[in-house]
Amino acid sequence: MKQTISSSFRLGILGGGQLGKMLCQAASTWDVSTHVLDPDPEAAAASIATKFVHGSFRDYETVMKFAQDVDLLTIEIEGVNIEAIEELEKSGLPIYPEPSCLRIIRDKGLQKQFFITNNLPTANFALFDNASAIRQEVASGNLQIPFVQKTRLSGYDGQGVLIVKEVSDLDLLFGSPSLVEFFVPDAMEIGVIVSRNKSGEMECYPPVEMIFNPVANLVEYLLAPARISDELIAKATEIALKAAEAFQITGLLAVELFIDKDQNILINEVAPRPHNSGHHTIESAITSQYEQHLRAIFGYHPGSTKLKMPAVMVNILGQEGFSGPVVYKGLNEVLGIDGVKLHIYGKIQTRPYRKMGHATILDTDAEQALEKAKRVLSTLKAQA
Ligand code: ADP
Repeated sequence: MKQTISSSFRLGILGGGQLGKMLCQAASTWDVSTHVLDPDPEAAAASIATKFVHGSFRDYETVMKFAQDVDLLTIEIEGVNIEAIEELEKSGLPIYPEPSCLRIIRDKGLQKQFFITNNLPTANFALFDNASAIRQEVASGNLQIPFVQKTRLSGYDGQGVLIVKEVSDLDLLFGSPSLVEFFVPDAMEIGVIVSRNKSGEMECYPPVEMIFNPVANLVEYLLAPARISDELIAKATEIALKAAEAFQITGLLAVELFIDKDQNILINEVAPRPHNSGHHTIESAITSQYEQHLRAIFGYHPGSTKLKMPAVMVNILGQEGFSGPVVYKGLNEVLGIDGVKLHIYGKIQTRPYRKMGHATILDTDAEQALEKAKRVLSTLKAQA
């Protein structure tokens, strides 16, 4: 393979959202050229990629053509055309994460089966072809409410996830093939990002804690490091490393975990790419998750994952009631708060709950960082 850290090296990225944009920024630090494929001509990464190709990463021919011009291919989203990347891998193009990992991870049903086969702890589940099969299972008493239904393919950011809490929720079931799993009550949610290179060298970031908005039931703050015991940190890290090893993945593996009331740790799901829960690493860690992904897929040693300081990350979501070209309100006030680092993704159109940017708030005192993050959230508004 060509010298990777060089402007003549062309890194192909399928997907040009914010993760793709931040990956391009890290690649540019190393003077690596980036080629990005995305169906949205206004994609976040479009303005920053060395070359932006407008087209669908879900389409076989488009992906095959795009890949002719790259030296290594990676992804920032799971929903890419799997047949195309399998074919490209056969023809000798290096693709990381490996298409074999992606084939399992993109299907939540196969992902859960993989956890079971590899002795990785996860909530009990069953697979169903359609909604009526689930209703029958409930009617016959074999399936108890509450439970969680997840569509097997193309779920993202809570879409394709239904928490069935009462009988009337059965009317809302998704009709497509899905998995149904045990509802983990009062769980704390944490995330651990692991990197693994081709030689099997692995490194883990400290667990982060996801703090939910109790009303909207959405992650509101992400706190690094998580406020959990050393024992739980060790256990979560061990599970995340075991998962990356089991997948034999090259690149990042983001592992989302539940800690239940009895302090058992269960894997919720994994993602084979940079992750929302790792945004804070750009400022808070010695090595950002994006640089770490590049190190892993280029075959270099992992960088240090030590945190320089506690950090809180908040997503800047499109405000409810506004759709259209975005205008940010409160920028000056927010930039006046000590330790606030702002990332605006450059999405031109806002709509309710669209991820428009994020802010990372650094403070030597984690509780102070949380207080400041609350001020950021209540001040900064993405409106139209
Ligand atoms: P996505 O792929 O959209 O992120 P997840 O599988 O992470 O979907 O589910 C979204 C959210 O739903 C989780 O963060 C969690 O709050 C809740 N959830 C998912 N599965 C369970 C479960 N088995 N028990 C309790 N809550 C769950």
